[in-house]
Amino acid sequence: MENRRMSEQELRDSFDTALEEGHIFVCYQPKMNHTTGRMIGAEALMRWKHPEFGMQYPSDFIPMLENSGLICRADLYVFEEVCRFLKICIERDIQPVPVSCNMSRYDIYDNDYADRIEEIRIRYGIPVKYLHVEITESSAIGGTELVASVLDKLHGFGYIVEMDDFGSGYSSLNILKDLNVDVIKLDMRFLSGDIGGRGGTIISSIVQMTKWLNTPVIAEGVETISQADFMKSIGCSYVQGYLYSKPLTEEEFIKKLKISEHEPSMTSMDIVSEMNVGHFWDPNSLETYLFNNFIGGTAIFSYKDGNAEFLRVNKKYLKELCMNMTEQEILRSDPFNGIDKENRRIYEDTIFKAISSNDEESCETWRTVCSQICGEDKLCIRSDIRIIGRAENQYIIYAMVRNITAEKKRFADVYESERRFRFASEQANVYAWEYTVATKQMRPCFRCMRDLGLPPLVENYPEPAIEAGIFPPDYADMYRDWHRQIENGAAHLEAIIPLTVGRVPFHVRYTTEFDENGKPLKAYGSATLVIDEKKE
Ligand code: C2E
Ligand code: CA
Ligand code: CA
Repeated sequence: MENRRMSEQELRDSFDTALEEGHIFVCYQPKMNHTTGRMIGAEALMRWKHPEFGMQYPSDFIPMLENSGLICRADLYVFEEVCRFLKICIERDIQPVPVSCNMSRYDIYDNDYADRIEEIRIRYGIPVKYLHVEITESSAIGGTELVASVLDKLHGFGYIVEMDDFGSGYSSLNILKDLNVDVIKLDMRFLSGDIGGRGGTIISSIVQMTKWLNTPVIAEGVETISQADFMKSIGCSYVQGYLYSKPLTEEEFIKKLKISEHEPSMTSMDIVSEMNVGHFWDPNSLETYLFNNFIGGTAIFSYKDGNAEFLRVNKKYLKELCMNMTEQEILRSDPFNGIDKENRRIYEDTIFKAISSNDEESCETWRTVCSQICGEDKLCIRSDIRIIGRAENQYIIYAMVRNITAEKKRFADVYESERRFRFASEQANVYAWEYTVATKQMRPCFRCMRDLGLPPLVENYPEPAIEAGIFPPDYADMYRDWHRQIENGAAHLEAIIPLTVGRVPFHVRYTTEFDENGKPLKAYGSATLVIDEKKE
């Protein structure tokens, strides 16, 4: 034997004989569930052992078959061989798994390819669930319409269709939107070896993205346990590759079928949201534009057993969290970075609440951000959390964030000053209140609230106090005028006013506080019993 690659002419000349004599045959490569160790299916791969030139490689002879217009016959031959094999399994009571057959893009151009495989399947009496069809992403190069119509036809017959070589480059995202495939095959070899780094981020976002589209993913070309573990960690347990098995001859494969447990079904994540998730991942879509430009700070991350991983964040998210990282850097970081145990518990409780309520849930948590320039800082973040995807115990979470640190601090300051103010007035035996000029709001002291039945915040002051009869009608206009004077910059006002229906004389005073420009901000009011004053 010469053991060399044959020429296209030699291939044409020996093709018929190769089919007749069985030089072209089929190998089977198992597809596995890496979580359970069970077999979920197999792929049929064409082999050609030439009596003169030795073993030929699909990467060489498939393109030549395509060039010579022979690929369709070759693929139908493989399909028929697979049916023959499945029939043997069924007759011998060996439980088969679904076997997928490759469909060249030239088969797609052939109008009745789908009818022909269907005719073969029926002739062999094989249930359609045992046959899958793999089409490649590149079939759609000339446009997706033709592929979509072939897909419809295959679906009409009941075939499961897998998208082969997904991620090999031909605008994968757009294809998924247009083609309603049932399974996606993600080739590890297209996605660089470095799964911990950028490659890993790309894979994980592709896997998550496809889950959003509700399509199961199988990773092929998986050679190492760390690749399989990585895929599992991002929610993709289905793998095919040398790690589990090289392509096996029919004889070897039948042995494997006999001894291994099978699990011939694939599941994917449920989509909770009714938004158009297909558009969402398309970099040119309106949804992406909205996500980046019109939605406030938002992060999408996956959450499973206490571990979280970013899938996507928008620029405003980084801004809200005062992070000077790039989007790439943040995708690699842990979403729980800088959150202490207590705050993490609050956050995770909110996730669980959102899981069980299926609705938006909110929480406020503190986190520490570190920057080389500014050092450490504590931020309070309000998060509105919603679950948008789930599969078993993995969840995809959509979190809108708002940095409320400044509000929190202001609130704490106000709270503290109010506490002191209310407390002080109680001690001094006076009625006191705080009037905010710009908003016409009045905050009474404890004693005003208790004795006069006022709420903690009175709007449109002084009208409610006049209406309630605290300031009697004959003093109402004067009292209103005081507030106009305060607005116009009066620094101090005072008078003896008989208050309440009992017309008890009080010494009422206002002192105004101004900002640095001399604009009146607040006026502090007090009322002291005239008798008390005399006693003093
Ligand atoms: P493919 O459909 O992507 O098939 C997977 C290829 O990856 C197979 O190569 C398989 O042997 C190889 N492979 C499997 N696991 C590993 C792994 O862990 N590491 C590496 N490095 N490779 C792995 P093969 O059999 O040489 O086929 C190459 C290509 O030829 C196939 O790629 C497919 O596009 C085409 N092909 C094979 N059989 C057929 C067929 O019956 N019809 C058509 N139209 N195309 C076929
Ligand atoms: Ca394939
Ligand atoms: Ca492939």
